[in-house]
Amino acid sequence: MPEGDTIFRAARTLHRALAGQVVTRFESALPRLERVEVDSGVTGRTVEKVEARGKWLLIYFTGDLILLTHMLMSGDWHIYRPGEKWKRRAADMRIVIRTEKIDAIAFTVPIAEFHTEASLRRRRVFNQLGPSVLADGHEYDSAEILRRLRSHPELEIGEALLSQSLLAGIGNVYKSEICFACGIHPFRLVGSLSISELSSVVAAARKFLLANVTSTSGDKIVTYTAIRRTTGRTDRDENLWVYRRTGEPCRRCGASIESRKQGLDARTTFWCANCQPLESSAAARPSVRATTAG
Ligand SMILES: [Zn+2]
Repeated sequence: MPEGDTIFRAARTLHRALAGQVVTRFESALPRLERVEVDSGVTGRTVEKVEARGKWLLIYFTGDLILLTHMLMSGDWHIYRPGEKWKRRAADMRIVIRTEKIDAIAFTVPIAEFHTEASLRRRRVFNQLGPSVLADGHEYDSAEILRRLRSHPELEIGEALLSQSLLAGIGNVYKSEICFACGIHPFRLVGSLSISELSSVVAAARKFLLANVTSTSGDKIVTYTAIRRTTGRTDRDENLWVYRRTGEPCRRCGASIESRKQGLDARTTFWCANCQPLESSAAARPSVRATTAG
């Protein structure tokens, strides 16, 4: 499943490419979307903005029309100049939004729906999203995230971090990396964590995700191939602390990285038993900064 930073980058790239542009052609392999084009016309509308909310991507058109998509495991938005060859098979195409300068193509998006502002407010799952870890400065609400986490003391922290109704945007890679950065065993219960431990988890989550959406490309149109990193290194072999490193030595202490499936969805979690003891040691453990470069 893509992490919130992937969706955020996709939304930002699409926003730069599409905002203010008139749709010159809309096409979809999904009959329900195609019918909206036939009945109400997407073509001719202007794209107002594109934004990410958690792992959802929203494209707003003039006239109270919103395209809501979720990529789950396999979906992808690409942008191309007209006539440019697609990097995925035409059979995977689900949506084409063409403007004068840019074609935006969604491939194999499993969830794609048109909404009005009103129907979007009623959309289940979407309207139960917790505050976004990647929200803009003035909208970012760490107190509310903490409140929601603490309302579920029975959850393991590794599970809680993936609960999009508590906080939106974290996926399986960051889940493990955040716990490592904070020296917290991912199987500890939320209720066993001190306020300062829980705060450090939320701060690390925001720090990691923000670090991975920081653009170095200016206004250039880019696709989303950036290497995800939490260690401060961009080298593909050194960019993460524990994720998918089972049996390899911990980058801090050299102990063997462990892994186990966790939660109802049985997503694999990675940790260092030495740096992240299962017993609470909040009093003894100095807080660990999220971006320590090793
Ligand atoms: Zn270690």
